[in-house]
Amino acid sequence: MYDINKIREDFPILLRTVYGKPLIYLDNGATTQKPKCVVDSIVNEYYSVNSNVHRGVHFLSQQATNLHEASRETVRKFINARSTSEIIFTRGTTESINLVASSFTDAFMKEGDEVIISVMEHHSNIVSWQLQAEKKGIVLKVIPMNDKGELLLDEYEKLFTDKTRLVSVAHVSNVLGTINPVKRIIETAHAHGAYALIDGAQSIPHMKVDVQELDADFYVFSAHKIYGPTGIGVLYGKEELLEKLPPYQGGGEMIQNVSFEKTTFNELPFKFEAGTPDYIGTTAFACALDYVSAIGMDNIAAHEHELIVYATQRLKEIPGMRIFGEAENKGGVISFLVGDIHHFDMGTLLDRLGIAVRTGHHCAEPLMHRLGIEGTVRATFGLYTTREEIDALLSGIDRVRKMF
Ligand code: PMP
Repeated sequence: MYDINKIREDFPILLRTVYGKPLIYLDNGATTQKPKCVVDSIVNEYYSVNSNVHRGVHFLSQQATNLHEASRETVRKFINARSTSEIIFTRGTTESINLVASSFTDAFMKEGDEVIISVMEHHSNIVSWQLQAEKKGIVLKVIPMNDKGELLLDEYEKLFTDKTRLVSVAHVSNVLGTINPVKRIIETAHAHGAYALIDGAQSIPHMKVDVQELDADFYVFSAHKIYGPTGIGVLYGKEELLEKLPPYQGGGEMIQNVSFEKTTFNELPFKFEAGTPDYIGTTAFACALDYVSAIGMDNIAAHEHELIVYATQRLKEIPGMRIFGEAENKGGVISFLVGDIHHFDMGTLLDRLGIAVRTGHHCAEPLMHRLGIEGTVRATFGLYTTREEIDALLSGIDRVRKMF
């Protein structure tokens, strides 16, 4: 049984008020709230274990190292990677994409080579490639979508040439909620001799992900979007591929031997983890993964699916409602505009009612251009979101609509 009341008790922040109203937090796509076990893990490790990892012979350092490496194993299991060598800890999705963009381009791409992205990408999966395009003259191609917000797979196929090296797309759109058919997208990339990177920032909190089943070459995500701490993320990469990529940053941890003449690099995953890692964060991250695993990713997905169906149906009853993203296969994101009310006005007035939603372009300006708008209001759901909160959102929107 999905005991939503019990789940909500694990998140103290959900009890607070804003402007004297109960908080209704519908900005989970930006970041999720943290259960007590995650915050306790941070406090407990600082109070009782804290010591730098990997370098010490002393007790605390070894204990901290064990916790840090056990967290890597928790992540491995969570996404069903073959080995912990394939789990690189980064600062988040953004850093993971930048790492691949930089190292993959260095290893595999020359001027004129091509990367395929999609029209619904977050800026982190656009600009990281543009930076490489400027440095190395690589070319970006873009998969278009239909008006429902579904990628056009026939058009996708047509983008391939003998210069295509990599396809990099979001698993779930942070604006439209579209769940992209990434298994098929990856298969097509492989059939054309290209690799595939999947941006899992918006999928990992909401569904079971199996990187081997998907056959993804790279899969990236952030801890803070799946109830873990900020400042931690993951780059999963197939071992044989990561072996071929040069390091992204230089420093401690990532070396084997250093002399002024020549440096040799550490083995995976440490080759890509220069400097002191956020080992306190990785332990807390593992707590978050254990927490969602105990509830069950399938149960979370089913709960959120029920909410999205209910919310979509009720939102459509509001006069002047325009929903952006009506894909057949859609996750817990609803972007909308009502009449000609500016998204910023809607967001500000909902906030006064205690309802936290996001407004603007959601770091996806090219998608806004495709939709012919400047921005949307975006409500995103989490494992603790209730039907009552959606009802409050609906009556809030209606109240704002009547004011205009
Ligand atoms: N990709 C997508 C699809 C996202 O939604 C986000 C976060 N909004 C990111 C990438 C970037 O994630 P982070 O800021 O945690 O690096």
